[in-house]
Amino acid sequence: MDSEMVFWLSFYGVFFVASSAIGALKGRLIAGLLLGYVLGPVGLVIILLSKDKRMLVCPHCSQKTHRHSYYCQHCERKVYGCLQS
Ligand SMILES: [Zn+2]
Repeated sequence: MDSEMVFWLSFYGVFFVASSAIGALKGRLIAGLLLGYVLGPVGLVIILLSKDKRMLVCPHCSQKTHRHSYYCQHCERKVYGCLQS
């Protein structure tokens, strides 16, 4: 294995790990893994720009709130059962 190959492997390895981590944080682990693996740096950008699946829009104030929350973090009205995925 020459040094250039090691460089490119670690270069893509960094993007693969980073996009997987971001995918996991956004509830999209598989998408993050695949994007990082197939597209490298481009995949990392795509997963960074992708919609966060954990956050849903509150029907009362239209702000994003966590899908498992019982009350909206912004308007503090009950959102349990009102959030659609
Ligand atoms: Zn709200």
